[in-house]
Amino acid sequence: MNDDALLDRLEAAIGSDALSYCYQPKISLADGKLRRVEALIRWQDGDHGTVGPDRFIPLAEESGLIDPLTRWGLDTAFRQWRAWTDDGIECELAFNISARSLEALDFPDLVEAKTAEFNVPASRLVLELTESSSQTLINLMDTLTRFRIKGIGLAIDDFGTGYSTLKLLRMLPFTELKIDRFFVRDAERSTDSRVIVEAMIDLAHGLGLSATAEGIENDAQLALMKALGCDVAQGYRVGKPLVAAALPDWQRDWTVEWDRLAL
Ligand code: C2E
Ligand code: MG
Ligand code: MG
Repeated sequence: MNDDALLDRLEAAIGSDALSYCYQPKISLADGKLRRVEALIRWQDGDHGTVGPDRFIPLAEESGLIDPLTRWGLDTAFRQWRAWTDDGIECELAFNISARSLEALDFPDLVEAKTAEFNVPASRLVLELTESSSQTLINLMDTLTRFRIKGIGLAIDDFGTGYSTLKLLRMLPFTELKIDRFFVRDAERSTDSRVIVEAMIDLAHGLGLSATAEGIENDAQLALMKALGCDVAQGYRVGKPLVAAALPDWQRDWTVEWDRLAL
């Protein structure tokens, strides 16, 4: 399917059953407890099957379709977040944001209005921004600062693989650094990767940010990240992206699993 055809179908999919969210759990490495879930968009097209976000999000960003998509995404994820809270599952919510959406100066007000609409706490929301789009983030200092004033957290996603990150880290009001899974994957085998991961964790802490390791796929990686002082862990070893209804079962199973690991 070419890009134009894909965009037409995506536009039609917004608000329909074809688009949905999965949620991937993140745990605190201090005690193994559920800390946060990250909302990850899924598209199941009737004719073309599963289309990955890495394929359609960049197209949506270029076309302007990202704005209605983000609005629908915030409604969907916040509604679910509210439902979990009502069912006694307390967690923070992470939501991925395109730099494109941040160009609108009133975007922070929109997000805040939605937290009020769904009665969810802005102080427990974290927006994840990818480093590859951070080049333009320098111009977006204003918008990001507005988010911080509202108590909303800001994570720099896929850290270490994008552009001039150190400058961005110093200039922009991030609250969290997410170490890209490329470094996490190699850290148990490669001394170089381990040194880099360790330096990233120290860097985060030195700047007053928390550190999250993404892409943790086995026990050794989990143990290493804890030993290196990383704060939060995410990856298939902890939990794959789940349909919302599966979170309570995941939480029960993971509690047993964490105790068994005895890290
Ligand atoms: P991301 O924010 O870095 O999300 C993490 C990606 O890594 C997800 O892919 C997740 O399924 C995958 N992942 C998690 N744990 C592991 C692991 O242990 N091993 C491996 N190999 N992969 C793991 P996904 O869901 O395909 O999302 C890809 C990207 O699409 C995301 O990267 C994010 O940048 C973007 N994205 C997803 N949902 C949204 C959305 O609602 N809005 C925007 N703007 N972007 C989104
Ligand atoms: Mg993310
Ligand atoms: Mg990432």
